[in-house]
Amino acid sequence: MTPLRVALVAEDYYPQLGGVPEHVHHLARELEALGHHATIVTSHMRMNGTVDPPNVRRVGTSLVIYANGGVARITVGWRLTARLEALFRKERFDIVHVHGGLSPTLGLVAPRAAWRAGIPVVATFHTWFPDSLGYRVLRAPFQRMLDRHAATIAVSSAAREAMARYFTAPWEIIPNGVDTTFFRPALAQGNGGRGAGRGPNLLWLGRIEPRNDLGTVLAAMPRILERHPGARLTVVGDGPWRSRMERVARPLGSTVHFAGYANGDRPAYYCDAHVYMCPTRRASFGVTLLEAMACGTPLVVTDLPAFRDVAAQSQAVFAPPGDAAAWGEAGCRAACVAARGAAGGRRVPAGDRMMGMDLLFGPSVERGPKRRRIYLTFDDGPNERATDAILGTLAIERVPAAFFMVGDHVRRFPELARRVARAGHTVGNHTYNHVKLHFAGPKTIRTQLKKTHDTIESTIGVAPRAFRAPHGYRSPFLISIIVDMSYTVFGWTFGVFDTARPGVEEIRRRVRTRLRPGAIVLLHDGDGYDPAGDRMQTAHALPGIIQDARAGGYDFGDLSELLNGGARGLSR
Ligand SMILES: [Zn+2]
Repeated sequence: MTPLRVALVAEDYYPQLGGVPEHVHHLARELEALGHHATIVTSHMRMNGTVDPPNVRRVGTSLVIYANGGVARITVGWRLTARLEALFRKERFDIVHVHGGLSPTLGLVAPRAAWRAGIPVVATFHTWFPDSLGYRVLRAPFQRMLDRHAATIAVSSAAREAMARYFTAPWEIIPNGVDTTFFRPALAQGNGGRGAGRGPNLLWLGRIEPRNDLGTVLAAMPRILERHPGARLTVVGDGPWRSRMERVARPLGSTVHFAGYANGDRPAYYCDAHVYMCPTRRASFGVTLLEAMACGTPLVVTDLPAFRDVAAQSQAVFAPPGDAAAWGEAGCRAACVAARGAAGGRRVPAGDRMMGMDLLFGPSVERGPKRRRIYLTFDDGPNERATDAILGTLAIERVPAAFFMVGDHVRRFPELARRVARAGHTVGNHTYNHVKLHFAGPKTIRTQLKKTHDTIESTIGVAPRAFRAPHGYRSPFLISIIVDMSYTVFGWTFGVFDTARPGVEEIRRRVRTRLRPGAIVLLHDGDGYDPAGDRMQTAHALPGIIQDARAGGYDFGDLSELLNGGARGLSR
């Protein structure tokens, strides 16, 4: 396969939050994981201390305008088309992929610049809108533009239908996804968060603007408080209506808390919430719904076609837009569902559906026997700095661990892999290129596993018998290949998001608070996508993690004890 150089053009990108920035960010990561080069092209905006990763280019200045019931951005700048054309030529892109096709400014300017540079254009349409005067007036020239696109993608049938009212194109629907390594229920388990005595904790998360309708949830609060006096509402996000909404919330006193802007810690907010409330009146998709579902958080959402598409299979409670009384009722109902969950019942199936499905995907070992023993596991190495440091700590502390290695990293750092094996640790197979298996075909999966198997065996002299899927994404094709190769598939009891580098003490604290008998602990000594990735925070946290576990009366098991269903903890 020839690696492609892809420009992802987006009017909306971080630090602006929303469905489009999320989509673009993850698409870039997925393209990189497939071996392509993705560059994000957006405009200059207030960064609030955020620093761009190296693959972001900014051209022109972003202005915030009020449109479509919310806040929109347009890019202004001198000779924008010429500057974009120069950038596209300089970076020798093979494809320009515009997010927010046919919308001002970049959705119109970037295709023109790309065509001048002779580069094909793909456009993804993300929005649903009731009616567009602009499209009615400019129908003919816009249709001509659209005809020149190499592909036209909509993120949902709602987004496609909005566009199809004005334009004809061979629409393809490709729904948004969610990163289930980042958004996982794991953080909520253990103490604190949802388990804590009072509640329910309600969450509202988004940009504070009219279309996201925080007002309806605030108006519903008195009714919810009547039934659940311990209820608290956390409002996460910022926006033009924040001060107005803070005034509206004032009579509710300390039951409403405005937490401000958040990006990296969003999973923790979802996980701490008993109920996620999404009263948005207008949506083409529901990325935050997926995020909440991935965290196992029950939902109350507006009854919109786009939200039905995403959440109908979960235990979501649907409520009509803007009806505070209905939202009060729905909030109470969801809180009761959540309370039953907290009392030891099943988690909301939406989360399970996305994470598990053992029947289809075959069993995986997610914990050991329930005695005071835990299993440390490190994924995505070997890595020159972190693996080395971790081996040092494990040797001093005489603690066994398992390392799920990426085949390509073993090829780069064979001596490190040998040192791991010589120290007596378990070496596992974690695919060759850290491929997410849920969309991979049987051939890819077999190749990824076999190539890694052979690389590890020829490097350390022992054939691996433990397999862990990148991000835990399994596939129905995996089971027969696993059986053929006589592997045991491992999941984990909890992870602590150490890949987000939350700080040494925070990593240590998260492990300490989640410890429980038999736990398989997911940590990272490498970066699945970057052989030089920095995992030193995890390495530095390890001595404290070991110390805390011992203080809690735990010892450390070797994961190979659990091979071939050695534990009763097979599957869930
Ligand atoms: Zn991994």
